[in-house]
Amino acid sequence: MTPIYNTIMSTLQNILEYLRPIQTHLVDERPIRHILTDSRKLTSPSDSLFFAMRTASGDGHKYIPQLYEHGVRAFFICEPIEPYVERYPDANIVQVQETLRALQQIASHWRMRYNYPVIGITGSNGKTVVKEFLYHLLSGCYRIVRSPKSYNSQLGVPLSILNMEEEHTLAIFEAGISMPMEMLRLQRIIRPTLGILTNIGAAHQENFVSLNQKIEEKLQLFVDADHFVYDADSDEIQRGIDNLGLSDKAIGWSLTPGKAYYHVSYSHSGDGTTIITVQHADESSTVTIPFADQASIQNATHCLCLIGLLPLTTAQRQAVLARFATLEAIEMRLEVKEGQAGNRLINDAYNNDINSLRIALDFQKQRTATSHQQAVIILSDILQSAQLPRDLYKQVGEMIAQYPHTLFIGVGRELCNYQDYFQRSGEGKTAFYETTDQLLADDLLGTITHAEILVKGARQFQFERIVQHLAKQVHETTLEIDLEALVNNLKSYKALLSPETRIIVMAKAQGYGIGAYELAKALEQQDLAALAVALADEGKELRSKGILLPIIVMNPEVEAFEVMTQSRLEPEIYNERILREFARHVERQGLSHYPVHIELDTGMHRTGFTPDRATLEHLAQTLHEVEPLIRVQSIFTHLAAADEPMMSDFTEQQFALYDEGADYLTSQLSYRPLRHVQNTAGMERYNHHHYDMARLGVGLYGISATGSLTLEPVAKLRTTLLQIKTIPDGETIGYGRRGQVAPGGQIGIIPIGYADGYDRRFSCGVGSVMIHDTLCPIVGNVCMDTCMVDLTALQGKVAEGDEVIIFGVPGLQVSDLAERIGTIPYEVISKLSPRIKRTYYKS
Ligand SMILES: *Cc1c(COP(=O)(O)O)cnc(C)c1O
Repeated sequence: MTPIYNTIMSTLQNILEYLRPIQTHLVDERPIRHILTDSRKLTSPSDSLFFAMRTASGDGHKYIPQLYEHGVRAFFICEPIEPYVERYPDANIVQVQETLRALQQIASHWRMRYNYPVIGITGSNGKTVVKEFLYHLLSGCYRIVRSPKSYNSQLGVPLSILNMEEEHTLAIFEAGISMPMEMLRLQRIIRPTLGILTNIGAAHQENFVSLNQKIEEKLQLFVDADHFVYDADSDEIQRGIDNLGLSDKAIGWSLTPGKAYYHVSYSHSGDGTTIITVQHADESSTVTIPFADQASIQNATHCLCLIGLLPLTTAQRQAVLARFATLEAIEMRLEVKEGQAGNRLINDAYNNDINSLRIALDFQKQRTATSHQQAVIILSDILQSAQLPRDLYKQVGEMIAQYPHTLFIGVGRELCNYQDYFQRSGEGKTAFYETTDQLLADDLLGTITHAEILVKGARQFQFERIVQHLAKQVHETTLEIDLEALVNNLKSYKALLSPETRIIVMAKAQGYGIGAYELAKALEQQDLAALAVALADEGKELRSKGILLPIIVMNPEVEAFEVMTQSRLEPEIYNERILREFARHVERQGLSHYPVHIELDTGMHRTGFTPDRATLEHLAQTLHEVEPLIRVQSIFTHLAAADEPMMSDFTEQQFALYDEGADYLTSQLSYRPLRHVQNTAGMERYNHHHYDMARLGVGLYGISATGSLTLEPVAKLRTTLLQIKTIPDGETIGYGRRGQVAPGGQIGIIPIGYADGYDRRFSCGVGSVMIHDTLCPIVGNVCMDTCMVDLTALQGKVAEGDEVIIFGVPGLQVSDLAERIGTIPYEVISKLSPRIKRTYYKS
């Protein structure tokens, strides 16, 4: 949920012409330049229009007071208008039936203002890549507006559309759906004149009754298009097109001559490039692409076929075909890395344009707002823009000025030329360099400490060199964490619960090895009830980095009480002794009503109060005595065997004991503490019990406790091949001489060992790693910092420095590793050593 950017939508009155609101309260004719759907992204209050959305993860109306406070004076709401008018008489307020619908209607009218071609792209995979390929190929011939990143949802599409302007000559938008009936809504907004259906896979299948239903739903995007391109070798897609009667607009391509409009053929040259030829009647086009993988070839074929439908001159067509050779892999990640000198790097290798700049600045702002690190921005010239440089850099300068920062570094001729737009009084310092080399040769980068550094450059500026320069040089072995997958997994679990139930995220053991801070940061906008950690120090660290969520400490120790109250951490209370001691501590600190969480032991037999009547009566008595000091924020219990179907009687008994105990305690208090029982497995198998909260642990990391839920893998552990060796016949490998390979065999040495948390039980073929999609067994014993793998199967096809996956790909997930050594996934991930570098990205 992001604001749209360079749109100048004129006034609220203009916008209202597109709608039939229920009621309006208009006080002025202010210009509207920003549509805001997420209150945290506010940068320019006076000309922002806020849409208060109700979504699964929250209610935007809650943020209106705060936004008003900051100077916002235009709101779309879907609640009765009167109380708002009374409270905010000088604000413009519009009441509509549904705010998202209203935004979509505005976008659909906005779309109708423009007559240039609009390309709509849908499909299961490759939408963003195809969009970016087309942008790269066509930007010499058209002034293109396109979706920022992968803005393809019910909200992303309207926000993208509102970027359309008079100055453009072509638009390219993505449309993604996860539910039936969604596409027609997107079709009415995008109204593509041309289209591409990339492919159909299993993604988001859960909400569709069949693959056919999903295909037909996606095809709705093209009902009013002139033509759309698709892979005619997919029988399912072909059938969908026939069923919907769309054959007259469908332009298929096939590897079989005569089967479809285009006949396609490929030839692979062995050096990583592929030659694609498409032929229709006696016309043919041939291009070379710098890829050899299936997905890229399919994506490029779609582009080539679509380009055949555009009215280009011969010279233009030639130029576009030549550009296929310069396509590059599309990086869509915003990656966060540890830097030197306490810096953190936000590396955005996505195309450098003004929309993605705003997204990156928002991301940086969100991080610095709580981490108290300073913000530094390193930006290159923005190439391939439709705007005149003067207008563009004026706009960029104004945008940058809205984001607090201490240093702005511009790299490139144009930024040097227009540096006046960046010298605003009262803002941070600025520095300008014509080239990346000049910046690297200067000392400036070495003076930056304790900052969040945004590094954002167009490809030709090779900003990866700046990232390398600033990054911490550590161990080659890296745990890559997909922050987006974390959020999606959280949503999958939320969907299992009743809408009012909130989630406590278990972040113990450094967030199950993922990194507690980054985990908290990634999820803090998801309306979490709290985080839980094992030890007070873990909580203290989160607070010191600016995490504001309630934090529960599961194993509070008396020695840590000081830290807990200082850092506003909430202890779990598991017996009378700890309750009295904590109450005494609270009293000494002059505090009161301090929140605590009472655990009942209903069968786990770990910590907690036994829920028999005598124990609970006594506890209730003590709670009375400490009443003004302590407030029971919640009462909970922990399930011992929620993942064991055989033990469901036992588990149901735990629920019953808990309910009874919690009811009794509540009856003895003058208020109602919150309740929570389920862990990950409990949410999956026992979601017929409803409580205020549930505690999500391992499921967040993409590991379903029962295997019944489709989740996204979150973490990928990778390293590189240090060395390759051919082993003389009969020789042995490693300590104890336990390893051997086939005669003439090769081994590779990789820098990960049991000190990194790679279990020694993987020794001697029990474990494997993935290299070039091939499983290679461990040979010999795992050493402390290294181990050896058998490369015989890959002989001649690997080189030193190649990537080695330890886990995180199909066939080699954490659960596979756990199974190999007879343990549980929890152990595999929580044991990964802190010395393994963690990198985080947002897809
Ligand atoms: C660790 C823990 C959880 C989470 O368990 P998962 O199986 O990872 O979901 C929940 N509650 C308590 C008390 C825990 O200690």
